[in-house]
This record gives sequence, structure tokens and C-alpha cells, in this order.
Amino acid sequence: MTASELDVELTHVSKSFGMVRAVDDVSFGVGRGEFFSLLGPSGCGKTTIMRMISGFEAPTSGSLKIRGQDVAAQPPFRRPTNMVFQHLALFPHMTVAQNIAFGLEMERLPKAEIGRRVGSALELVHLAGFDRRRVSQLSGGQRQRVAIARALVKRPAVLLLDEPLGALDLKLREEMQLELKRIQREIGTTFVYVTHDQKEAITMSDRIAVINGGRIEQLDTVSAIYERPRTAFVAGFIGETNLLRGRLVEAGGETATVAVGEARLAVRPEAPLPRDTEVLVSLRPEKIRLGPPLPETANRLDGTVESIVYLGSHTRYRVQVPGVGGLDVDVQNAEPAAPHEAGRPVTLGWQPAAAVVIPQPSG
Ligand code: ATP
Repeated sequence: MTASELDVELTHVSKSFGMVRAVDDVSFGVGRGEFFSLLGPSGCGKTTIMRMISGFEAPTSGSLKIRGQDVAAQPPFRRPTNMVFQHLALFPHMTVAQNIAFGLEMERLPKAEIGRRVGSALELVHLAGFDRRRVSQLSGGQRQRVAIARALVKRPAVLLLDEPLGALDLKLREEMQLELKRIQREIGTTFVYVTHDQKEAITMSDRIAVINGGRIEQLDTVSAIYERPRTAFVAGFIGETNLLRGRLVEAGGETATVAVGEARLAVRPEAPLPRDTEVLVSLRPEKIRLGPPLPETANRLDGTVESIVYLGSHTRYRVQVPGVGGLDVDVQNAEPAAPHEAGRPVTLGWQPAAAVVIPQPSG
């Protein structure tokens, strides 16, 4: 991506509040038309990053560009951005159309132009025909649609969304995630989205920046974040995983060997690693096969089923492997298979490429 195609560009941006370093040397670029998410636990600095992009907070150091322009001197209302929050701040006594038109009227656009824009914004969020309804007469999801229409009607270059679905119940939230994605595709506006919900980020985003302690742990496409996490934090925060601590005892060639307790595991590191490197092996529960291993399966461990939890689409087994520890294994419930019982011996199997090797800093 060239710099000119970037709608948002942060370069070595930090923000301190007194002694608290909320954002610590963060650099990233958001491409035009991209759905980009900032994902991380509470207090990691996501909202502070958004507030700096929108202009409600100034960086302590570093530079911030929107559409190639340094915006340090621009107050929020001069920036080509708009925001949608969890608390929508709609005017409940006004109609849907009045709420959406409000910003355009402040700009004193001609009435006909306002009418046209409000009409197409209502169509975009699938609320055509609701223009005369009062906001107080709408459901939570419909209010959310009004807030999105109100933010988009001003045609910002970048729409900033800070946990906008946080107040909705799960079913509605999932529906609105798909709606937001559809709306974003339809209009092609750049979206920067803040969430602590990994499923939400995975559902909607083109790329995700995983934030932890004010820093970017990893910035990647959704599938790369899930399939090739580069840190233990990312592996554990996005999806579920087994993290096995070990040491590289054999290197060289594509496949290496890691000693985990008494077990020797064949792995395939992304880049060659020297012998004796301390590593974490991240192995997703669904990558492990439970049952008689296939002849070509490189890694096999014998263990005992400790617990079984039926989860609808799949069943989660906890298996104790002597000398290694407990491993979670997911078995799809697509085909009825002989269930494994607690207390029974089982064999776990997986191929080297199924696991991710995460080198650990020495010391
Ligand atoms: P959440 O998901 O809970 O909103 P977040 O990831 O958005 O969290 P921020 O709100 O950006 O996190 O806060 C990052 C850190 O900066 C926190 O430790 C927070 O307490 C601190 N912080 C944020 N704003 C201020 C402020 N105005 N004054 C002092 N400290 C602040």
C-alpha cells in the first residue's frame, strides 16, 4: 500500500496521561476502503487511539495523518472523520429524519440536498419509511442504524466506531455486525472499529491490530492473526489455544523438534530457529485429532479423558497427557461418532504444520 492510498496513518504515536503511558509508540496505516479493527482488552489504549484520530485527544509524540495531511492543528470538526459510540446520543424527541439531517442543517445545506441525502442514508441502513418515527419509538437495533446513518450522511472519509454494538444483546449484535459489514462494502468508506470482542473483529474486519498494554502486538489479516499468531498473547486472545512450553532440541530443515516435558513434538517454525531456543507451541483445540491416529500422523500423544463438554456444534474434551499436561481438543459433532468417555485412554494426533511455534525472549 502506498502512502497516498492510506486514509489514516499513525507514525510512532504515543500518549501519556501523567504517569500512565496509554499508547506506546504505535505506527500503522489504514488503507482506503478498509474495515480496520483495533482489538484488545479493557484499558489497552484502543479508545485513546480513536480519540487521537478524531482530534479529541492530542498525541504526546508522533505524527498523525488523515488522507495524507498532518492533522495535528485540526480540531475534531475540521477533520474528515465522524464517530459512532456505544451511547448514541440521538435526540429522542426528534424524528429519525430530523436526527439524521441535524448535522447537514448545521452546515446550512440546501433543503432539497438534505432531503436527498437523508433519503439515501435511510435506504442504506434499511430504514426507508421510518423517517417520521420518533427515535423513542425505535428498537435498540433500529436506533443503532439511525446513529450510523447520521454519521455517514456527512460523508466522512473515515468513520470511527467505538464499541458501537456493546449495549445490544448477543443476537442483535451478531445481526448488526453483518449489517455494518454490508453497509461498509456498499459505500466503500474506510471504517476504523474498536472492540474488545475477538469474534466481532473476526466477523467484520479486513485487518486487525491486536493491542496490549498500549502497544500493537500484531497487525495482520484476520486469517493470519488466527492461523499464525506471533505472540502468546495474540494466540490466547483470538480464539482458544493450547500453549505448550518447550525447547528446540533439533533444528535444521523444514521440520524441527521441540521437547515439551517428556514428549518430543515435530513442528514447522515459520523461520529457522537455533537449537535451545525456548518456545511456546500454540495448538488450537480443533487441529488435534482424537482417536486412532492416521498412519502418517507425525505427532501422537497418549492420554486420558478428564472431562467432556457438549457444545452443540462440537464437543470439547480435556485430555491429560502424562509428562505434558492437560490439552483441550474439539471434536466436530457433524457425524455421530462413538463418544469418548471420561477416564478412558485416548490418543491425540496432529501434523507439524498444525501448530505454531512462538519463540520466547531469553531470560
Ligand atoms: P476500554 O475498552 O475499557 O474502553 P481502552 O482499551 O479503550 O479500554 P483507553 O480508554 O484508551 O483503553 O485507556 C488506556 C489507558 O489510559 C487506561 O489505563 C486508562 O485508565 C488511561 N486513560 C485513558 N484516558 C485517560 C485520561 N483522560 N486520564 C488519565 N488516564 C486515562
